[in-house]
Amino acid sequence: MAQELTARVKEIIQRAYNVKSVRLDIGGKIDFKAGQFLSVTLAGDPVLKRYLSISSSPTEQGYVEFTKKLTNSDFSKALSQLNPGDSLKIEYPFGKFTLDGPGTDIAFLSGGIGITPIRSIAKYTVDKNLGTDMVLVYANHSLKDIIFKEDFEVMQKAYPKLKVVHVLGKPAAGFQCISGRINAQVIKQEVGNYPRRKFYLCGPPQMVEAMNKILTEDLNLAKENIVTENFQGY
Ligand SMILES: Cc1cc2nc3c(=O)[nH]c(=O)nc-3n(C[C@H](O)[C@H](O)[C@H](O)COP(=O)(O)OP(=O)(O)OC[C@H]3O[C@@H](n4cnc5c(N)ncnc54)[C@H](O)[C@@H]3O)c2cc1C
Repeated sequence: MAQELTARVKEIIQRAYNVKSVRLDIGGKIDFKAGQFLSVTLAGDPVLKRYLSISSSPTEQGYVEFTKKLTNSDFSKALSQLNPGDSLKIEYPFGKFTLDGPGTDIAFLSGGIGITPIRSIAKYTVDKNLGTDMVLVYANHSLKDIIFKEDFEVMQKAYPKLKVVHVLGKPAAGFQCISGRINAQVIKQEVGNYPRRKFYLCGPPQMVEAMNKILTEDLNLAKENIVTENFQGY
């Protein structure tokens, strides 16, 4: 059941040149499933309301975090001016981009800011040591666009059943990645046992649609094994 509450900004973290995380003190029990989203309203103005995935995991007590790609919008400008101690309105939790339960191996296909709910699910799985095998295939334009890079590296060290494959349009010298875009060949090559996994797709609607097409048409995977989250607005 979604609840509306006033939250206080606890901390702001610059994740990339155009991406910020905001950690909120919600003053009570943190109650959501990894992968869900919230709504944020700034300055009490309904025009400044956006849906944003929760990038923290329920295992990270003391705050709820969202992570926003900054654009030229009024919402992004207002967000950039937030400081620790400021208040904002949230409503949460929403969404079904969540884990089924232990036992199913999973694969995440993501691009850019679409990593936010995936970071939550991966962190939850690692912290709970669920034993689920996870492969993340994460596409970005270049190295500087990768969000939560170090965070995933730390998770991989703690949890050997997490594999991370970076796909970059513009590869960087010395950085291990696949050059180009996510396609059927990349999935076949990098995602072991792919026909038996549950796929989680998240990113801008065009990307999610393209990934869905690859999985269902090129790789003949069943729709029931694909969970999607569309970041409407990009
Ligand atoms: C479930 C969900 C989770 C999301 N999670 C994240 C996240 O974790 N991080 C993140 O950065 N973004 C996320 N988004 C996208 C976010 O809600 C904004 O749409 C996006 O950030 C663009 O907003 P803006 O203020 O930067 O740009 P704007 O200039 O306000 O938006 C760009 C364009 O998109 C349109 N638009 C804005 N919001 C919507 C909407 N909800 N539906 C349809 N059209 C819209 C605007 O009218 C405008 O034309 C999520 C969206 C959804 C639906």
